Amino acid sequence: MSTFEGVDPQGLTPVDLTPVDGAPCGCDEAVGRLWEYVDSELEELDARRVQAHLDECAPCLEEEQVELVLKQLVRRCCQEEAPETLRVRIHEQLTVLRLRTSVDPQA
Ligand SMILES: [Zn+2]
Repeated sequence: MSTFEGVDPQGLTPVDLTPVDGAPCGCDEAVGRLWEYVDSELEELDARRVQAHLDECAPCLEEEQVELVLKQLVRRCCQEEAPETLRVRIHEQLTVLRLRTSVDPQA
C-alpha cells in the first residue's frame, strides 16, 4: 500500500493542485472548457477530466451537445474559424430555444 505524501517525487508541485488522471472536474470548469473540448484543443489530461465530468453530469452533457451543434453550424457557415461574437450570438439563440422548449412546470 502506497500513500501520497502531499508532493510529487520532484517536490515541485503539491499533489492537491495536480489534477488526478481521469478525475472529473467541476461544472464551472467543464462548461468553461467545453468549446475547447469539442474543438479538441484541450490537453489530453484536461479533455479526459471534462469527459469524466460529462459522463456523470447531465446538464453539462446537454451543454456539450449545444456546443457540438454550434460547431457544426459555424463550420457550415464559414470555412474559417468563427468570430467569438458569432459564436456567442448563436449560443444565445440556442439558449432561448432550449428555455422555450424545456419549460419545467415545477420551476
Ligand atoms: Zn456539470
